[in-house]
Amino acid sequence: MSASTERSAAVTGVVYIVGAGPGAPDLLTLRAARLLASADIVFHDALVHPDTIALAARAEKIAVGKRCGKHSTAQKFINKRLIDAAACHGVVVRLKGGDPMLFGRAQEEIAALDAAGVRCEVVPGVTAALAASAELGISLTQRGVARSITFATPRVGEGEAPSDWARSVAAADAAAIYMGAGQAEQIAAALIAAGKPPSTPLAIVENGSLPEARAIFTTLAALPRLAARRAAGPAVILIGPQYRARAQAMPRESAPADQVEANQVTAAGRTQ
Ligand code: SAH
Repeated sequence: MSASTERSAAVTGVVYIVGAGPGAPDLLTLRAARLLASADIVFHDALVHPDTIALAARAEKIAVGKRCGKHSTAQKFINKRLIDAAACHGVVVRLKGGDPMLFGRAQEEIAALDAAGVRCEVVPGVTAALAASAELGISLTQRGVARSITFATPRVGEGEAPSDWARSVAAADAAAIYMGAGQAEQIAAALIAAGKPPSTPLAIVENGSLPEARAIFTTLAALPRLAARRAAGPAVILIGPQYRARAQAMPRESAPADQVEANQVTAAGRTQ
């Protein structure tokens, strides 16, 4: 894709924007593994598993990652480093969590590389919502109840126009909400205001695909209270009628904590 024909003479390398998958190091494409093995330099996000980064055995490895609430390396600075790296390395890998084209800021990097005349290619990865569904054993598009799904985030970048994410979520049968677990209260309020019933079932899946994966089934009304029980791992909120049976098995609002814990699923199974 995106090759500029007017490349500067100094530029020799190709930048590969590679999806590292949701966490488990073996949820990586063969193409990604091959590129990592041949990489001269790798710029990776904070959430990428160390075993995945280790596949880049001969590469210089540079963390440029962002984590919610933590200071992030400015995107412009990352763009510049990619361009500079392509001037002196053959294979430059920009390794991003999940799939680079979904809430991954790949576009800024592609645009900057294009503008600088640096060739770049994107390698897809398994996105968090897919890993979370696999964890639950519940289809994102369950036949008969969920024929459409929205990928959404309430998060907007600095200086960006506010998005109408809640309306798109309300209009679809199902939704996967990224970067939202820390704003559970606002999410529940916005979705209820957009017309979703408070009884709408959902699942919060944290650390999908990793051994420490955890899931909680609940409803929009109880989301703020239950989201507070999460540990610090990344979490995606899956909303839709396909989670109803599990959400109905949940303890009532007033249930003590141990009952809430009893409705979690673990990475190993979909029971409890
Ligand atoms: N490009 C990534 C998403 C980056 S935004 C992808 O395709 O998955 C970061 C958000 O992804 C987190 O806030 C969280 O909502 C979600 N996420 C990433 N890894 C996750 C995981 N292992 N389990 C659950 N959610 C995850």
